[in-house]
Amino acid sequence: MDRDRYDPFVKTFFECDPTVVTGIFSELLAAMRAEESLPPGSYMSQNYDTAQANPEIHVLPGNLKDARDSIFPYFWGTDGWSSPLHLENVRGPANYASLVGALACLLKNPNLCTDSYSQRSNELEVKAITALANLVFYHTIDPWGIFTIGGTISNMYAGKIGIEKVLPGAMRKGLQGQIVAGIVSEAAHYCAATIAGWLGLGTENLHEIPTDRTLSMRLDLFEEKLESLYEQGVRVAFVIATFGTTDAFGIDDIASIRRIIDEKAAKYDVPAPQLHADAAVGWGNCFLNEYNTHENPLKLNANVLPVIERAKAACQGLHHADSVTLDFHKTGRGHYPSSAFIVNRKDDLKYLARSKDETPYFPEADSRRDPALFTLETSRPGLGPYTVMASLNGIGLMGWQMLMGRALELAQYLKNKLAQLDYCKVLNADTCGASVVWWVLPKGRNASEIFSRLEDGTLTADETTRYFAEVTRLFYKRERSMDPARDARLSMTTSVGYRPHGHNLPAWKAVFFNPKTDEAIIDQLIASIEEMS
Ligand SMILES: *Cc1c(COP(=O)(O)O)cnc(C)c1O
Repeated sequence: MDRDRYDPFVKTFFECDPTVVTGIFSELLAAMRAEESLPPGSYMSQNYDTAQANPEIHVLPGNLKDARDSIFPYFWGTDGWSSPLHLENVRGPANYASLVGALACLLKNPNLCTDSYSQRSNELEVKAITALANLVFYHTIDPWGIFTIGGTISNMYAGKIGIEKVLPGAMRKGLQGQIVAGIVSEAAHYCAATIAGWLGLGTENLHEIPTDRTLSMRLDLFEEKLESLYEQGVRVAFVIATFGTTDAFGIDDIASIRRIIDEKAAKYDVPAPQLHADAAVGWGNCFLNEYNTHENPLKLNANVLPVIERAKAACQGLHHADSVTLDFHKTGRGHYPSSAFIVNRKDDLKYLARSKDETPYFPEADSRRDPALFTLETSRPGLGPYTVMASLNGIGLMGWQMLMGRALELAQYLKNKLAQLDYCKVLNADTCGASVVWWVLPKGRNASEIFSRLEDGTLTADETTRYFAEVTRLFYKRERSMDPARDARLSMTTSVGYRPHGHNLPAWKAVFFNPKTDEAIIDQLIASIEEMS
């Protein structure tokens, strides 16, 4: 080796020069702040045309500024979602306590597969998971869990535990020709189908139960479905109850689902399915568990206090779940990826356990502290624990209550404004989350009456098609005439999850995940609807 070349090169890339590193970091920060002073959106259009044609790799070793230059246009061309006009989806700007955690994590770059590759970072994961478990289960004795790369994967862990519960040995022998099923509501996240496919159940063995108007799984239909599956000898591995649907924030009645699965499983003498709560979005309401609505210390608007009481009541349902998914990168305004999969009783992880013979890379592994003995992943990032603990404690319980309370306040404000317009109809009036889904029809139509007729089945097919097309057309009309510096950015969903008579209901959607969004932005949104419809 030519050490005259090698040594300076190693110094550049493997020794920390704080001046260079913080210098580049300051430049990135300056660019980000410049971009944030502009209206939201994309300031550099994509160039997919030649993205594959020019996959350049420099020939000669450069320095950290070459590293900077090779990513800068893509950094500039990416919206950090800081604008209060962003209302499209369950995505907020990442909070800066999370950034502090994330930077610390990146500096050490722990690998959470085993204790020896991550030392105290592994301990931090135990702490973060336990903190979140206490929040969602309230009183729990022996919770355990891990961070995964997303809600989909967290839900998949629950599905896998369920399969092992109802078909012992499936990890080794596969499904052995048995029909194994899962159950969710029609408003559940589409990832349930992904999971059923990837776990080998087959998407056709995922059963979707219709919801009522509040986007909550119909318990009568659930019970019928479970009974009929058991009658056919199908093994029901899991029920995923959604705790806050992605579009409209519907919540399934977890306590009743628990009662039904226990009764039916006893009747048919089979192990009960894994009861998993997909609280990817909804878990944040647990911060409000101890909010005193009588004293109302945060001076929340009076009309949101009943919403908070409903949210608190719904959170009690989580105690009945065997496991829960919680996306900190959504409601926690944390950095990706930080989804947590948590079991209420650690013992349930035995269904995922591998023996040491099966993990030859980790002969020293100890199941009490080495996640590699049961995780789907091998290498795992430490970002979850770092961003979560930094955010939870930086922001504090009252800070979280302010974030959640304010989001509910804004959602309620928009719902109330829309309720005053005859040609609009809020489709999730009674949910207790940060999202609002609604119809906008042309002026002169009575949206509530149209909705009632749709529900009672008297709307003709032609009318249904026409009205749904109007909702969609008006949405894109607003998009075309929008002033990006002033008008909130919304999204359009093709199905809110409630499907009266099997119809997918299209709707406009707004989600209040940005703490800087305010009433003036909503007033402007209402004005833009009044101008165009
Ligand atoms: C977003 C979401 C998921 C998927 O989570 P990712 O972190 O995006 O993988 C699953 N379930 C619900 C209810 C969600 O909102």
